[in-house]
Amino acid sequence: MNLPNLKNPHIFQKVGRVDRKSLSNCDQLLLILTTKPAASDLKQLPSSDKIQRLLRKSPSRSAPSFKTRLSNTRQTLIVSKSIAKDATAFEQLTLGRKLVAEACRETTGSVGICVIGFSAEQSKSIYNCVIAAALAAAFQLPSFKSKKQKGSIKSLRLLGAIEKIDTSRVEAEAKGNNLARWLTTMPPNKMDAITYSDLVQTLAKANGWSFKRYGTKELTKLGAGAFLAVAQGNENDSASILRLCYRPSVKTEKIDLSLVGKGIIFDTGGTNLKPFQSMLDMHGDMQGSAVAVGTLLTISELQLPIAVDCWLAITENRTGPVAYKSQDVVTAANGKTIQTVHTDAEGRMVLADTLVLASRDKPAIIFDYATLTGSCVTAITTYYSGVFTNRPELHPRLKHAGRISGERVWPFPIDKEFMADLKSETADFLQCSPKAPGDHILAANFLAEFVDSNTPWIHMDLSAGDNDGGLGHVNSKFTGFGVRYTMSAILDENLFKANL
Ligand SMILES: [Zn+2]
Repeated sequence: MNLPNLKNPHIFQKVGRVDRKSLSNCDQLLLILTTKPAASDLKQLPSSDKIQRLLRKSPSRSAPSFKTRLSNTRQTLIVSKSIAKDATAFEQLTLGRKLVAEACRETTGSVGICVIGFSAEQSKSIYNCVIAAALAAAFQLPSFKSKKQKGSIKSLRLLGAIEKIDTSRVEAEAKGNNLARWLTTMPPNKMDAITYSDLVQTLAKANGWSFKRYGTKELTKLGAGAFLAVAQGNENDSASILRLCYRPSVKTEKIDLSLVGKGIIFDTGGTNLKPFQSMLDMHGDMQGSAVAVGTLLTISELQLPIAVDCWLAITENRTGPVAYKSQDVVTAANGKTIQTVHTDAEGRMVLADTLVLASRDKPAIIFDYATLTGSCVTAITTYYSGVFTNRPELHPRLKHAGRISGERVWPFPIDKEFMADLKSETADFLQCSPKAPGDHILAANFLAEFVDSNTPWIHMDLSAGDNDGGLGHVNSKFTGFGVRYTMSAILDENLFKANL
């Protein structure tokens, strides 16, 4: 199995007034206007009289839009939509996805993007959001169709900007998000636990990260009984915890950031088998690990001067004669004992030991990602993901990172009293509650038992990881949610070096 082609289409830029020649290089032009475009702004465009006429004819007064074709040799299709000057990042990303979808209805090659009538700051943000959508749409997700699919976006042309736009971050984020979505979409027979581990090793080699695989023998020595309980149901000895290390050229002693991800290659639910509908998309239950490795790729592409570890907990959750079951008692790598209740609550089991291992090196902050609970979806739908932290004073900043990245999150509590719902007669605590509501909150409180309380930790329950029709800039069901978010958390909110 080869890694996907993560190369983004080339981005050309032509600063200043839009001329006919630049337009004639585009098969499609995505034109973004304000909801009340001024005639003086439109004058910057060729055929501005025609555009004004089309805008007047728009069925919507509050959000005018139109489509037209230029009479040049390419018959350039202009798709125009408008957006409010105070639109959020999520709204800008969503606009980008819709524009790109309209343009991609026909064979594309060279797609122009032009933003007119906004302040320099807003304009930069909109260009970046539409680029993010175009790079997501241009990427080829795994396809096993016998017939080749039609060609997609080959290049992007930014037209009409006041100054050159720095696209390095959006391009690096696109690579991370595309990788995460590609891995998550892979059919489970094409990418099993071994193939996944091998792919990650190839990726590590290509990017100069160190790679270590902790197989079941080493994990037994480390006492990782919670992870191994889930792994024991695998048909083959294929489970492992992977550790990747990205180190910048600048010498650093301590680890600035540790990324941890749940990588359940296929979740049958185990002995407590899932019904058909709940099991259907369970090849996507490794998305947390895909987001962790996608985020590492983005950081590495940007050559950020921070030392980052990435820990991936990779196994299947299978049913079978030796699979773990309710009432088993296991000991995790930090010595705490767990009474198992429901074998479908395997995510917290594999993360428990992985968080213990990640904590041992005392990173400045840990982020973990997991498609962990159905109750998080019930609580906040698939439009937001849930976040939890052992530093509740961070809640406003966590929400803010969601707002500015367009990957929106909402915080939930971690408090000692929740552990009363996980009280066990035979072990330190229960794996989950047989009846209590708020499983996403109980799961996070369970995980907190495996993180050193001196280490700031953020847990993301990826309820927005799977959204039919896409979300924000992303047009696929699996969204790779978390890569953009984390980049905002570390670059815009500076969470990794905050004095927590
Ligand atoms: Zn499960």
